[in-house]
Amino acid sequence: MDLHTLLLTKNACYAAGAKLTPTGIMVHSTGSNNPYLKRYLGPDDGLIGANPGNHWNQPKPDGREVCVHAFIGRLADGSVAVYQSLPWNMKGWHAGGKANDSHIGFEICEDGLDDRDYFEKVYRQAAELCAYLCGTYNIRPEKPFLICHCEGYALGLASNHADVMHWFPKFGKSMDTFRADVKAALAGGAPGAAEYAKAEAAPSGDARVNVAPEEAAVEKAAASGMITDRQYWLNVLAGKTTADGRFIKLMFENAAKKAAIAADAAGKTPEEAAADAAGKTPEEAAVDGAVALGLVTDRRYWLDVLSGKTAADRKYIQIIMENAGKNI
Ligand SMILES: [Zn+2]
Repeated sequence: MDLHTLLLTKNACYAAGAKLTPTGIMVHSTGSNNPYLKRYLGPDDGLIGANPGNHWNQPKPDGREVCVHAFIGRLADGSVAVYQSLPWNMKGWHAGGKANDSHIGFEICEDGLDDRDYFEKVYRQAAELCAYLCGTYNIRPEKPFLICHCEGYALGLASNHADVMHWFPKFGKSMDTFRADVKAALAGGAPGAAEYAKAEAAPSGDARVNVAPEEAAVEKAAASGMITDRQYWLNVLAGKTTADGRFIKLMFENAAKKAAIAADAAGKTPEEAAADAAGKTPEEAAVDGAVALGLVTDRRYWLDVLSGKTAADRKYIQIIMENAGKNI
């Protein structure tokens, strides 16, 4: 899966910031002939291309209250990628019904529905995304947990739309083949498969116990000097506690200190380094430091985390820690 992140932080849905505990996934397709991600996402990250204004990174795109967790479609160069557009643990506005309270929702960008090559690419990316989410949130790739919009309507969970069963059958697929393919991806070791297998093997309830990779991430972060209290961060990554924004700020600052030492070694004077931080709040300086280090990409989201406006998704914290070894 080619997964990128470009959050729709200006969308009213993101501003509302309602919490979601995902127990399902709803597959959508856009219903209009435009396979390019830039139709829905912005600003240009250098890969999707520029869109003068009708993307969904605005309060009410096309005058509607709509927002989804991810899009699958074409980059400017024509290749196919997955873009996460909302935190997975934030409620989306995609179903027009109760499924918004339970299901992560993503859109596959439609083309003219006549290109098999494009279909097979987006179908595969969608299956891999669902395997990843099933593993991450212990979601069963079965009805009514993994469904498309029209199945959600039949179940009384969503508004009356035809997606995706007006498209998949044109190429010999259905939501049943899709669920089987997600299951196969999980059985075959797709990202998320290990977590899913552990959750399946656990006795009952909320039993996700993906301890080993979390420990590895914490070890990397500790070794890089970003954190010292291993147990606290293990608890965060395990979902036992929510990370305090102030501690995340410290983590960024520690990373930035390391980077300053590296910059110094690379010939930057302390004055030049200080000028980079001029006129910023400590939070902005910390986030900018983390952006510069490649630890995070979405400045607005992390500023919201540091100010306590939103709680950081623990999966993102884990990714930061995993990146620590590479960047610092
Ligand atoms: Zn839909």
